[in-house]
This record gives sequence, C-alpha cells and structure tokens, in this order.
Amino acid sequence: ADLAGRIRRAVTTVPGFPDPSTVFQDLRGVYATPGLLAEAAAAVAAEFAGDFDHVVAVEARGFPLGTAVALAARRPLVLARKAGRLPGPVASAGYDLEYRSDTVELQRDALPPGARALIVDDILATGGTFGAVAGLVAGQGAAVAGFAALLAIPGLAGAERLAPARVALVAGSG
Ligand code: IMP
Repeated sequence: ADLAGRIRRAVTTVPGFPDPSTVFQDLRGVYATPGLLAEAAAAVAAEFAGDFDHVVAVEARGFPLGTAVALAARRPLVLARKAGRLPGPVASAGYDLEYRSDTVELQRDALPPGARALIVDDILATGGTFGAVAGLVAGQGAAVAGFAALLAIPGLAGAERLAPARVALVAGSG
C-alpha cells in the first residue's frame, strides 16, 4: 500500500490516555516497523527539497522524525526543547495546550540569519506547538520553510491555524 496508508495502519489509538477525554495516537508501531520512519523522512525531505536548510525538531516526540529528516536531507539538526533544558542564552515562547501551558526554547545562535527552517514534530493537533516554535525561529531572523508531522488530529484545524505556511502530513490528516 502507499506510504500514508502504511503509516496509518501502524498507528494505534488509545482512548482515555493520558486522561479520560483524550484519544492518544500511539506511534510505537511506526517506529517499530523497520524502514518506515526512514521512508517517511525521505518523503518529507523530498516535499520540501530546495526550500529548507535547517531542521528544527520539537521535544520530545518530534525528535525521531526530525532527526530522520535531517539525516535524509543532510541538513543541520536543531533541537527545540522544553523550558530549562538548553544552556543559555535562549529564546522562550509559551503556548497553551488543552489543560495546561508549556514553554519551548531555542538557543539564540542556533539558526544563522537568513536560515530557512523546516519545523518537525510527530503529530499536529491544534498547531499551538508549531506556532510557538515558528515564533522562535522568526525571532532569530530565520524563515519558516514549513511544518512536517506524521499525522494530524482531525477536527482541530491545525493546518488552517498555521496557514499560509506549508504543512506536510505524511499520513494525511486522518
Ligand atoms: P498542538 O500543539 O495542539 O498542535 O499539539 C501537538 C503536540 O501534542 C505534539 O507535540 C504532539 O506530540 C502532542 N500530541 C497531541 N496529541 C497527541 C497524541 O494523540 N499522541 C501523541 N502526541 C500527541
């Protein structure tokens, strides 16, 4: 089957985790299928080929795909991390999640001026996380080439929130 279908079939949905109102998308099966993450990364690298020169991976679940994309494209990998994990000076951006808020950080010299950053996470939900990281990238004088994730949670309009930026979802939005 096609790559999108194989990824969708490798995802397990877990109702009620981590809280009763959430349906968790467990990507374990994607990572456990030999070659599948590499294939997904190659698809992302091809989709944005020529348009990015750095990969920014979002802690923590954006690290597998982000690392794989950086390797596939032979581009520098930059880690966007949760508060307090990176030695300073850092730039911080807060964002709201469903029941809490969180902070993501980038080291201030992580991206050279004029860099074009592809921002990578595992799952797009509301787009709040991607939006916060994009703000940090722009704050460094770098451009956002686009966003990539394995899949999106339907009904949350994450891609619309990020528009007009380009959003690549390897498994589609289902
Ligand atoms: P957003 O900021 O609302 O777009 O949420 C995206 C973030 O939440 C990503 O960093 C995901 O790792 C995480 N996330 C949201 N829903 C799920 C899920 O069902 N499984 C795994 N991670 C999720």
